Amino acid sequence: MAFKELDTAGWQALDSAHYLHPFTDHANLAKTGSRVAVRGEGVYVWDNNGDRIIDGLSGLGCVNIGYGRPELAKAVYDQMLDLSYCQSFFNTTHRSAVELADTLTSMLPEGLNHVFFQSSGSEANETAVRLIRKYWDLVGRPEKRVIIARELAYHGSTHMAASLSGITPMHYAGGDLPLPGIARINTPYQYRHGANMTADDFGVVAARWLEDKILEIGPENVAAFFAEPAQSAGGAICPPMTYWPEVQRICRKYDVLLVADEVVCGFGRTGDWFGCYHYGFVPDIMQLGKGLTSGYLPLSACVISDRITDVLIGLGGEWAHGYTYSGHPACCAVALENIRILREEKIVENAKAELVPYFKAKLETFVDHPLIGDVRSVGLMGGLEIVKDKKTGESYLYEEHIGPYCSAEAMKRGLAFRANGDTMSLMPPLVITKDQLDTVFDIAREALDATAKHLG
Ligand code: PLP
Repeated sequence: MAFKELDTAGWQALDSAHYLHPFTDHANLAKTGSRVAVRGEGVYVWDNNGDRIIDGLSGLGCVNIGYGRPELAKAVYDQMLDLSYCQSFFNTTHRSAVELADTLTSMLPEGLNHVFFQSSGSEANETAVRLIRKYWDLVGRPEKRVIIARELAYHGSTHMAASLSGITPMHYAGGDLPLPGIARINTPYQYRHGANMTADDFGVVAARWLEDKILEIGPENVAAFFAEPAQSAGGAICPPMTYWPEVQRICRKYDVLLVADEVVCGFGRTGDWFGCYHYGFVPDIMQLGKGLTSGYLPLSACVISDRITDVLIGLGGEWAHGYTYSGHPACCAVALENIRILREEKIVENAKAELVPYFKAKLETFVDHPLIGDVRSVGLMGGLEIVKDKKTGESYLYEEHIGPYCSAEAMKRGLAFRANGDTMSLMPPLVITKDQLDTVFDIAREALDATAKHLG
């Protein structure tokens, strides 16, 4: 591809002049200038100056298979030459979407047998909400409308997805959010809400917050519980193993649909193929994205149980919902190839056996760091929570931007290390090696030390 002949400052000036970035303070960006990425391979990304960073975040928790796999590029190339686009609105289908739907349903728990495709995780969540509401209308219970979501949830940036999200600045970003019909409960964040309990006890207590909320609203009014198996953007909040089975029991008891947003957890992030396998529950609807294509092309899936599709197909008539790019051939082809490689190279299984215990042990060495109040992880998702006072758990003020400071210190040293609030998060590609993990943790420690020094 022929690009303009510009140096880094030139790209930064163009970027600043014309490109609005997601979740970015542009006044600040105009001062610092963007990092101009040019190439990725394996777990590394190079910038325009030739500097290499190790991607401790898999992009945004999506590049599970690593950057630059030629097989994925070839799958897209071949598909584009065969059939570059295909709508599926008017009684038309194509092979890569059908094969992908078949593949996904064969990988998921029994009873989840239909797939709806769209481009992003946010859109998959929109689809899920429309399905939930349609389902209860069709079975003659339209009063079942309230969806219960959690604090610190992240479900995306469209109106409904942002409303379901519990990261409150998103509600003020324009659009008078949250939309009506959403109730919220607290999250199984043991460090903040149950430090005096065993993990097992706390898991049950946190699940019962759902029961309390259902009873408060009235089970006859509650449509669904909507949650990530483990919360990544909320700051690597990983529930105890007792949480999800109890949530499932409560949902069944009160006839509330259980909706698992597996946009991050799906495809190996928790150490198992899907978060529902890791935590031991079966959702009625599950959203997948990110790792579905390892981020090579945008694609998400909303996987739906027979309970819902039997009604939708049997009684629903036309369901007026869909996107131009639902089941885009190239995106489905790249997902199929991604899944083939993940399976053939046993990437998820190897990560679980070799990398997950190493990652956890390395993270736990930070327990003694003077800035770290809590260390948590599941699979290859980990968080180190920075606190002002280790004894009381007091946090720094948001305005002090301590997490972002630490993140910038890591980037200077060649590591992508994200701040979710003051929790420093890691979600490396599943193909990272132990040596590379050593580098990740060495730089993470240097960045935290530099942050401690900055704080005096
Ligand atoms: N759901 C979860 C759990 C996510 O973490 C994200 C994005 O980070 C989304 C949904 C939204 O996905 P997208 O950014 O593709 O719309």
